[in-house]
Amino acid sequence: MFRQLRLKLTVLYAGLFGLALLAIGVSACLVVERNAADQAQRELRETGEIFGRYWNTRLAQLNAASWHYAEEHDLASAVLARTDGAITARLAEIERRTSTDLAIVVTPEGLVISENGARSSVPPMLQIALQRGRVEPGILTLGDDLYQAVAVPLREMNTWLVVGNRLDDDSVDGFRDMASIPLEIDVGSQQGGRLALDSSFAEETVAALVDDAMVTDGPVAQSVQDARGQTFVSISRLPSLDGTEAFLIVSSPLNAGLAPYTTLLGALLLIGIAGMLFVTGSAWMLARGVTQPIQQLQRAAQKLSEGAYEVVTIKTHDELSGLADTFNAMAGAIRERERRITQLAFHDGETRLPNRVALERKLTATARRERLYLAAIGVDRFTHVRGAIGYSLASELVRQLGGRLAHLAPNAPMARLASDVLGVAFIATSEADALKRARALIANLEQPVSLDGQVVDVHVTIGIAQPGGKQETSSAMIERASIALDQTRQRGQKAGMYDETAYGDPARNLSLMGEMSRALESGAIYLAHQPKYNFRTGRIDSVECLVRWRHPVRGAIAPDLFVPMAEETGHIRALTEWVLERAIISQKALHAAGYSIEVAVNISARLLSDTDFAKRAAALARQAPNQVSFEITETAIIDNPVAALENIERFASNGVHVAIDDYGSGLSSLAYLKQLPAQELKIDKIFVQNITSSQRDALLVRSTIDLAHGLGMNVTAEGVETPAAFALLASLNCDLAQGYLISRPCSLEELMALLGDDRRLQYYKQTALGATPSLAVAPQQPKHA
Ligand code: C2E
Ligand code: CA
Ligand code: CA
Repeated sequence: MFRQLRLKLTVLYAGLFGLALLAIGVSACLVVERNAADQAQRELRETGEIFGRYWNTRLAQLNAASWHYAEEHDLASAVLARTDGAITARLAEIERRTSTDLAIVVTPEGLVISENGARSSVPPMLQIALQRGRVEPGILTLGDDLYQAVAVPLREMNTWLVVGNRLDDDSVDGFRDMASIPLEIDVGSQQGGRLALDSSFAEETVAALVDDAMVTDGPVAQSVQDARGQTFVSISRLPSLDGTEAFLIVSSPLNAGLAPYTTLLGALLLIGIAGMLFVTGSAWMLARGVTQPIQQLQRAAQKLSEGAYEVVTIKTHDELSGLADTFNAMAGAIRERERRITQLAFHDGETRLPNRVALERKLTATARRERLYLAAIGVDRFTHVRGAIGYSLASELVRQLGGRLAHLAPNAPMARLASDVLGVAFIATSEADALKRARALIANLEQPVSLDGQVVDVHVTIGIAQPGGKQETSSAMIERASIALDQTRQRGQKAGMYDETAYGDPARNLSLMGEMSRALESGAIYLAHQPKYNFRTGRIDSVECLVRWRHPVRGAIAPDLFVPMAEETGHIRALTEWVLERAIISQKALHAAGYSIEVAVNISARLLSDTDFAKRAAALARQAPNQVSFEITETAIIDNPVAALENIERFASNGVHVAIDDYGSGLSSLAYLKQLPAQELKIDKIFVQNITSSQRDALLVRSTIDLAHGLGMNVTAEGVETPAAFALLASLNCDLAQGYLISRPCSLEELMALLGDDRRLQYYKQTALGATPSLAVAPQQPKHA
């Protein structure tokens, strides 16, 4: 309901105070009203009593005076004589002496003689009363007026002297003034069934009360509701002289009784309003004292969440200042932790050099990126160095190289990108300029490093990348620099640029692996056969089985692309087993066609240490109708020599021939050559292709042939493309030739056609002898594979 604590507190305080005030006010009003009512009733009662006493006293006075004058000689003789002048004079005298309003004589004939000489007949009610003989003093009605009157007989003359006072406003004024509250006093009568009221009451309001009063001895009091609101009324019956039903009616409106208190209540109300204002104001100020520090804390917390630190100062000495102190301590702790986290997040823990994330941020923040180059500096043979000097000195080495970089290019963003790779960004005008700077860097970084008092030689390679498009992230740029480093190393250079084309699209290539098993079933992957010509027999008696993939979208995919990928992703075993099964199927078909052909299958390095595979491959080979050969490279043995040699032994003992593939292209080792139970050695095509042009290569091939023969192995020359090379190899005592000159890798049908083509075999024989056969017998190259 309230969004502000301050408003809430203020309303709460003011509300509570208001309620208390209201309670006091209401009780005061009730008490005042109650008092006023009590007082009004008391006054009515007292006024009634006083009036009664006054009434009786006055009547007694009148009575005494009347008796006195009635027994006087003067009046009696005047009446007896019927001398009106004397009567009236006497009556006027009585009236004056008794200070009354009425002095009359009622004759036995029913005549009324008044003090002013007027004569009239006696009113019937008075007549009746007088005839009864004894008359009570009381109310008398004459004409429209009411009188308090007494009637006394004049000697034995049957004549009455009546003296009285008119009951009018003036006669009751005295009583009204005596009361302490405003009172209204009236005398009313019932004339002919109707109420004659001089008061402001409506007849119906008091009619029932009047009726009650007429039959009750004392006064009848009640509160009635009339035009003035609540009014207290007291009605008492007045004694009557002539039978007139008359009564005294005293009333007091409550409002009039409350009037004296109005000022008091008004003052109370004013005090209340002033109090309310004061309390509201004070509560507002008080609430501010509470909410201001809270707001201060809230603002500081908000800023803290935005990463800004603000010290909160609260000058009070209460819980709020304690809270502020705690808050400040907390903010300080957060700031310190943040500093440490930032330090950890952007620095390499080992060397304290900036890390990759830090470099990414700096690169992203770099405005002019067109001439920006990023170098990935790799420490060559780092694992070997680390193995030699230990982990901690190896990181010290990297740290020192980082230090040198920072010294050479103080403002350049640099970082440790991997355990053996540092990155540094710099500005260059062109690729050539960038490479020049990289070489300068290399010269500097390759200065020997002093570690723990020992001097260690360092060699580094640098790969350089330029920012790609605008969209390229810094991370992608770092990645490309790292790829450039790998590419440069593969190229055997010291510094080189990123080569987009050479890198290709590894992600796209990787997706090929998902399609491989389907391709094996659908026939998209199939087998090609490349025949080998046997110089000794003059025939083709062996073929190498090579895998092919014709992709529905990408077309022909080179085995150099997907075979290494299958090796890396664990698909190579399935692929190789498939090739071996297909090779045996081809061999069976050839066998059925009358050709005993040895099939050779390439076995990846990775599979050579896989004993399960070796067992399965050996089992498959046992089912083959003719000789099976496995081509393996020497490097295949280096990774896990024990298992590899064990499996090669297993192949040999299962009757499988082993051929050493690509001999001379890797690190050929005489040690392995000696250990391997191989029947064949295949000289790599890089030597064979130049055999006729390079004496060195020819010499190497010849020595290799001699060496292999010495070890009891047949020699196959790969990549034989020209008749000259073919003839030279024959003269060098080479055993087998494989290459485009004999045949490109081809389908089984084409292979069969070749095997049955005597003219071509004739051509090979002649070529081997160094003759140049006619074009007519030059072999037709199979077009298929
Ligand atoms: P490799 O085992 O050395 O296979 C011989 C490669 O030389 C084949 O390339 C073949 O087409 C090519 N070649 C044959 N004669 C000539 C020639 O006169 N001149 C030239 N320039 N090249 C010639 P391919 O089929 O592209 O195979 C490339 C490599 O892929 C193979 O080298 C082999 O290492 C691998 N490979 C092929 N099939 C398989 C397989 O089924 N399993 C495994 N593990 N590797 C395979
Ligand atoms: Ca091969
Ligand atoms: Ca080869």
